[in-house]
Amino acid sequence: METNIVELNHNIYLLKGFDNSSHSYVIKGDYRNILIDSGLDSSFPVLQEQLLKIGLKIRDVDIILNTHEHFDHIGANRYFQNHSLIAAHRFAATKMKFNDKYVTLYKSGDSNEISLHVHLWMENKTRLDLGNFVLDIIHTPGHTSGSVCIYEPSLKCLFTGDTLFAGGVLSYIAESGSVGDYINSIMTLNTLNIKEIYPGHGNMSSNPGEDLKNAVHNAMCFLNKDEKTNITYTLTNEKNNS
Ligand SMILES: [Zn+2]
Repeated sequence: METNIVELNHNIYLLKGFDNSSHSYVIKGDYRNILIDSGLDSSFPVLQEQLLKIGLKIRDVDIILNTHEHFDHIGANRYFQNHSLIAAHRFAATKMKFNDKYVTLYKSGDSNEISLHVHLWMENKTRLDLGNFVLDIIHTPGHTSGSVCIYEPSLKCLFTGDTLFAGGVLSYIAESGSVGDYINSIMTLNTLNIKEIYPGHGNMSSNPGEDLKNAVHNAMCFLNKDEKTNITYTLTNEKNNS
């Protein structure tokens, strides 16, 4: 299999992002096929080729779950939206529906000038039951207001978008984001039993305990960037650190 495609688990694939596009993930469900993030509009030909290599045509993608409203995660939605169900958190959906470029960061000249459809405006704890997998949506605002992470409880893997990268690295606070929300979201994630982190960019991680510990620290440092934070806190799920 090509190096830009990784089978992470049986029926779960990483399609690596090309040219600053976000990664995409495919979950082949018993009932529905899911694509997490469509990536950059301009990278769509690469995505299409990757999907074909794992046996899927564009029309075989039943649902797109967008982790948040940024252009490098939603850009290719338009190639799917006439036949796939597009789902995003309601705070992401409003930015997409009304083409809020201040938040989505589309620049003039980008080819994507058509309105994006969002058919399902998700809430915290929305669950998709795919038969062989379950996907739990966790609202994790901070990087943006509409950011979500997606948790699969049997595999204990977490798709994090731009909320959390390998090593506990956090993304920046974007136009609709909030430091306070970010800290709270990371602490919420730290209560989950996670074995693998599948982020929107960069490497996967099999060391989520350490990553989350670092992430909580990094989130605290957002408040006090130039000095070492002196805020003390207790990790809420020490078993993640073993
Ligand atoms: Zn982003």
